[in-house]
Amino acid sequence: MTRTRYDELYIGGAWTAPAGRESIPVHSAATEEEVGSVPLGVEADIDAAVEAARAAWDDPGGWARWSPQRRAEAMERFAAELEARGEETARRVSIQNGMPIALARRIEATAPARLLRYYGNLVRERGLEERRPGAFSGATLVVREPVGVVGAVVPWNVPQSISFMKIAPALAAGCTVVLKPAPETVLDAFLMAEAAIAAGLPAGVLNVVPGGGELGARLVAHPGVDKVSFTGSTAAGRVIAETCGRLLRPVTLELGGKSAAVVLDDADLAANIERFFAATLLNNGQICYLGTRVLAPRSRYGDVVDTVTALAASLVVGDPLDAGTQLGPLVSARQRDRVESYIAKGLAEGDRLTTGGGRPTDRDRGWFVEPAVFADVDPRHTIAQEEIFGPVLAVIPYADEAEAVAIANGTDYGLGGSVWSADPERATAFARKVHSGSVGVNHYANDVGAPFGGVRHSGIGREFGPEGLAAYQQPKSIYLDPSAATAR
Ligand code: NAD
Repeated sequence: MTRTRYDELYIGGAWTAPAGRESIPVHSAATEEEVGSVPLGVEADIDAAVEAARAAWDDPGGWARWSPQRRAEAMERFAAELEARGEETARRVSIQNGMPIALARRIEATAPARLLRYYGNLVRERGLEERRPGAFSGATLVVREPVGVVGAVVPWNVPQSISFMKIAPALAAGCTVVLKPAPETVLDAFLMAEAAIAAGLPAGVLNVVPGGGELGARLVAHPGVDKVSFTGSTAAGRVIAETCGRLLRPVTLELGGKSAAVVLDDADLAANIERFFAATLLNNGQICYLGTRVLAPRSRYGDVVDTVTALAASLVVGDPLDAGTQLGPLVSARQRDRVESYIAKGLAEGDRLTTGGGRPTDRDRGWFVEPAVFADVDPRHTIAQEEIFGPVLAVIPYADEAEAVAIANGTDYGLGGSVWSADPERATAFARKVHSGSVGVNHYANDVGAPFGGVRHSGIGREFGPEGLAAYQQPKSIYLDPSAATAR
């Protein structure tokens, strides 16, 4: 890694001295060693960052008033600087949270630039204004104004992509942003700041203040923030929603999940095993949308259990920086304890462990858990209801499609999911019945152009696609003079 010890914060377009004295030590998930540190943000830093973002937003000739074209050009420069740092970004993410490097290269190194380009082009091509002929009277000019200063709070699991799911549409809309990364993954956020400086992003348009939940709460409630965008746990999302409700502050919430991977009775899972892995166990099980409940027809139950068990048992668990690794360590000791406590709970409730669940014997450092599969899981059991956020799958039997739909929809969550069948039309018909923000057919992969988000306890609002841009805009109607020629 290049520079990994930082003693300043990116606020107001430059490195500035932090208000506090403490720092956040960053550890390697694989070796537990300290690999870097950044200043721990305090309230005064959040105040300074919001003030800088506010000043940038208020600037009469500034970012919010630039043409979409000009903003898109600045975003392109930012994208290019991020791309130039792509390999280092992937390495930092991988070291910090255990993401296998091959995946980090595929997602974290490239998605930020892709998102910046997608949203830059979207506003450039579609513009921000639309003249609508009147339904009953004169015409209206609908102007999509930026909502203002955005407070963005993100988790550690896919830190760069999730950050840019917020930053890219916010910047394209004309908003300015204060980002609070999770303390586990800060080194990649500081590399992002280096890229922003190199790209000449105007002062205050993006600011980064790292810290924990309390600092996040301060940002969410800050009087200078106009819009909150949060990705994280349902528990924290609920608290944030309460704050934003009291303040009447718009908020986007991307929260937890317990999605179903529904195997229909004609599916050839073995032939699709790589896609099935990506939909259920990617990133060491640390992705919100993963289908961690595998629903299997009773007519082929043994088959499915064997295939899923063989998959989990075959995965290469190891150093996340090794390109051949399929499953790395969990992000922290706390997260490993959490996952292990769910494995213990599954055993205590009588679910049948078919593979994994222990710590790899060839490693004495790092927060590793061997991928675990439970069979014969009652859909009411804890491991079938609560989000574990680790490599633990629960295989649940069902009798017919009606029961499969009921089980798939039988949790508080509704974020992702997948349906597996030899007949894509049959699977698509099933997907329509799943109460969730997104469902994949014979794979699961979200797309920058299509809305992503949750229902029920999985969240409110959508990211990606034009819907993701709309979250950072306030439409304003200017009812044109009915007697003027332009109004007709
Ligand atoms: P978390 O909620 O503990 O923390 C997420 C972020 O919020 C961190 O930056 C944290 O410091 C901050 N935070 C915590 N409490 C806060 C509060 N009261 N006010 C403001 N900020 C606060 O979640 P985590 O354990 O870091 O991440 C894992 C969770 O994130 C899982 O539940 C996962 O499903 C969810 N997640 C959801 C999506 C999605 O798109 N729906 C994507 C990734 C992760």
